[in-house]
Amino acid sequence: MRIDLHTHSTASDGTDSPAELVRGAAACGLDVVALTDHDTTRGHAEAIAALSEGLTLVTGAELSCRLDGVGLHMLAYLFDPEEPALLAERELVRDDRVPRAKAMIARLNGLGVPVTWEQVARIAGDGSVGRPHIASALVELGVVPTVSDAFTQDWLADGARAYVDKHETDPFEAIRLVKAAGGVTVFAHPGAAKRGRTVPEASLAKLAEAGLDGIEVDHMDHDAPTRERLRGLAADVGLLTTGSSDYHGSRKTCVLGEYTTDPEVYGEITRRATGAFPVPGAGGHRA
Ligand SMILES: [Zn+2]
Ligand SMILES: [Zn+2]
Repeated sequence: MRIDLHTHSTASDGTDSPAELVRGAAACGLDVVALTDHDTTRGHAEAIAALSEGLTLVTGAELSCRLDGVGLHMLAYLFDPEEPALLAERELVRDDRVPRAKAMIARLNGLGVPVTWEQVARIAGDGSVGRPHIASALVELGVVPTVSDAFTQDWLADGARAYVDKHETDPFEAIRLVKAAGGVTVFAHPGAAKRGRTVPEASLAKLAEAGLDGIEVDHMDHDAPTRERLRGLAADVGLLTTGSSDYHGSRKTCVLGEYTTDPEVYGEITRRATGAFPVPGAGGHRA
């Protein structure tokens, strides 16, 4: 059984529509795929409608959080999308995205980069605008060769010259809100040092104590020693470990199912969740 628990569609900063994404997941032989757009669940209905037999969808989102000045991402699975407190928090984060993108564009203009809001808005389409869209604009303009090259201290990494803070949730609050909405939390790419500063490992134990369910270990931004260290930490504090592609369509180089999650871990996630159930494709088996 092949399980990929972290993907993005055009509902946030991926390049595949939710329907294209689930068709792609089926085509590459996945049995389970989670749709985890940034701070939004609005791709879920389209993804569910496009599910084919044999593929199961796990509904989720990737929540923008910040701890002691360090940005981090919290994957949330199988929560009730209508639960008001978590919904309000997602909206608060999302509403901040446009003013923030415009502020980053102004900083880039100040650095002599002729990027415009119109250009970034065109790239974002109807997705919720974020740094990857601005990074794509920098690639279009020939400022950097790839999107990843824009996520450095020269440009858009946390604390970089053109970086602007946004409203982000305290991860302890995120864990509490997701639990209250019946969901499960997995700290996304906790050791992705090239994206900027990472949360100190001591904090993982505190997050685990606060009810964090797991950490993402097998991820393209983790090298082999980082994965081994994270696996050891997870074992020490009783956290589940997942693997996933963090697929963004053509915006990043990874492919669906590049990394996967152990079926037993997936089973544990579904057992803990009470806010929503995995959705099997029409006529398909319930994974
Ligand atoms: Zn992320
Ligand atoms: Zn992601």
